[in-house]
Amino acid sequence: MGKNHCSLLLHDISERIYLFETPEEVDGFLTEAITLLMGESGASLGAVFVRDDRSQELVFRVGIDDEGYWDRSICSKDQASRRFRYDGTDLGRAFREGATRFHTYSEDDEAHPLKSKILIPIIRGPEKMGVFIMAHKDAHAFSDVDHEDILNTSSLLGAMLAESTMLINEGAKEPSTLERGPSVIKGIKTSEGLVEGRALPIWSDTNSAVEHLPPQGTPQEEEALFNRSQSLSLEQLEEMQNASAAIDSEIISLIFTAQYYMLKDESLTNKILTRIKEGFSAPDAVHAVIDEYAEIFSNMKELRFAEKAQDVRDLGFRLITNMGKPRDEGFSYKGQIVLSRHIYPSDLFRLAVEKVAGLALRGAGVTAHISILARSLNLPVLVTDDKDLLEIPEGTPLLLDATGGRLYIRPTEETITSVRKQRALKLSVRDFYMLKGSTSDGVHVHVAANVNLHNDAKVAVAQGAEGIGLYRSEFPFILKKDFLSEEQQYRIYKSIIDTQQGKPVIMRTTDIGGDKLLKGRSEEETNPFLGVRGIRFSLANREMFRNQLKAMLRAGANADLSIMVPMVTDVEEILTVKEELALCIEQLKNRKAEFNPAPRLGAMIELPSAAMAVDELAEETDFLSIGSNDLTMYLLAIDRTNKNLSHLYRSYHPVVLKVLAQIAEKSGDKISELSICGEAASDPVLLPFLLGIGIRKLSVIPSKIEEVKRNLFNYSIEEAEKIAQQMLSIRRIGDMEKYIKAL
Ligand code: PEP
Ligand code: MG
Repeated sequence: MGKNHCSLLLHDISERIYLFETPEEVDGFLTEAITLLMGESGASLGAVFVRDDRSQELVFRVGIDDEGYWDRSICSKDQASRRFRYDGTDLGRAFREGATRFHTYSEDDEAHPLKSKILIPIIRGPEKMGVFIMAHKDAHAFSDVDHEDILNTSSLLGAMLAESTMLINEGAKEPSTLERGPSVIKGIKTSEGLVEGRALPIWSDTNSAVEHLPPQGTPQEEEALFNRSQSLSLEQLEEMQNASAAIDSEIISLIFTAQYYMLKDESLTNKILTRIKEGFSAPDAVHAVIDEYAEIFSNMKELRFAEKAQDVRDLGFRLITNMGKPRDEGFSYKGQIVLSRHIYPSDLFRLAVEKVAGLALRGAGVTAHISILARSLNLPVLVTDDKDLLEIPEGTPLLLDATGGRLYIRPTEETITSVRKQRALKLSVRDFYMLKGSTSDGVHVHVAANVNLHNDAKVAVAQGAEGIGLYRSEFPFILKKDFLSEEQQYRIYKSIIDTQQGKPVIMRTTDIGGDKLLKGRSEEETNPFLGVRGIRFSLANREMFRNQLKAMLRAGANADLSIMVPMVTDVEEILTVKEELALCIEQLKNRKAEFNPAPRLGAMIELPSAAMAVDELAEETDFLSIGSNDLTMYLLAIDRTNKNLSHLYRSYHPVVLKVLAQIAEKSGDKISELSICGEAASDPVLLPFLLGIGIRKLSVIPSKIEEVKRNLFNYSIEEAEKIAQQMLSIRRIGDMEKYIKAL
């Protein structure tokens, strides 16, 4: 181990820790670090142990043991013994004393293949986090170590472990600004809102739930602890299903029912009880059995089963968390602001059902779907790059101003009052909600709603929407993380259509692919936005597509139903969809089912090729709808989810406006059936332009309906046409920005 070699090696890779999002990735990274250190010293075994204050033990986290020494004396393969007490063990002593220890195996243990070991405490600031151990076949392997190198290595490992945020216990932390006084974290809004709440850092990992647990009791006490947590968890899962009407009962039952039955399954609970009888604490028994089940699922070849591992882990998280709370309290997300690194749409949905106040997420991985869903769920969500986010201690008072892109930590009364005042200005009059959309000269503009969940459909009605202009049918698939049966889809679609009481409903067939991946069903692709997405996915999965069409036709019986096709490239795809639709109608006829035999068929214009083929598409369809979110992305070649390019993603770009005008012109007689359902439809700056080029149908998120109707009143068609002409004559983006500012 030469001078400063180990710490230099670690330093070279340590920056990359910020790239990882899952515990597995971090463990892979730590393993890489251990490999480097072992390579440098020629050690045969290396491992990281982390502290567990509850059991007063150091617990194995990751390690390398290529030659299989575990069984001999270092520690056994049996998970229970990969733990070393703080007192009475070499590992524990290195940890308690915070000092590197060397050890040579005694001369009389000739048979032992390892002759020396080094135990390096892992330290970050004043906090002791664990111990790194390496063992060597040579008795003098560690005799010439460089102490400065060891110290640096120890603190680099500490930084890596801290960043992984999955340590079992918090321990004494260096007080940072986050832990002392008020401070602010900046970010960008993903979904608007202003809420107060308490910090709840979570990682979808059972390790993180082990905090605040009572000390281990007798097996009988541990069994009682588990039984209590099981019944509390069952109660919570049941409650969620019952309280579901507020959001989307059909989808909730899809997600939670599996967990509910898993927890009722005796083979799972008996395994846990057996472990408790063997001497495990209740949380450790749950942890071990849940990990075993999750492992089985994640090793399954079919990725959609592998995804179920997440459900099992969620269940484990709930069980263990419920053990840590007083008997009558139980665990609740109510009033909490969740701080997390990564979140799946289904997790977001669960948190909303459990009435979480809001979320602040760190880093990438926030897909367009997360923001769309968060808005539907009325959940304020902020995304930030600030790595301090996950350092905020649990329970810290927070003010989340997602609208303003700020998370206030320990806000003062003045801050709360002033932020509230600022936001209140935005919530003005509610005069227009029952009126139809109309320009100042009385031209009717149809304002419909974009709907993702059942709740949106209800809000749309309350806000006076003239029906649903876009129902994103991929959401139930994404939330369930799998295909749905025809029957399951039928129930969901019918519950949405019923809310509209005869008003027109446009159901879009699934837009899976791009960033809306359905793991296990979507292929891994180098470039998913240019891959099997939207109608391409449906045509590649015909059975799924037919089930969906049949479910839509049945749900739309006696309703004003339109079916819309996403990501259409050319007219051939529409012709194929027509054949599929005819086939499904035939099958339903034969089945003597009740269904809608004549839905209107439409195509989304969201690819440049579709924009070029508007006239052909108009001939073969009943209506067209511009998906300006994707159209902007594909025209400008800017990923709509790429935060680093968001400043360049502009729907008012002269090129985008030119294409929108061409689409309107080429739609010919169908101009009255041309709508726009991307975000641009609710952008006040673009509204006069859209009216000016002839668009009379808008579909926007329900919460924007009033505002859009109010804005419509600001323009006559003549004024709007003039503005559109002026905007179309502008060639440079800078000039466009000046023009828009002056509007
Ligand atoms: C669009 O692309 O504008 C659109 C409405 O579809 P989505 O946002 O679901 O991709
Ligand atoms: Mg789209």
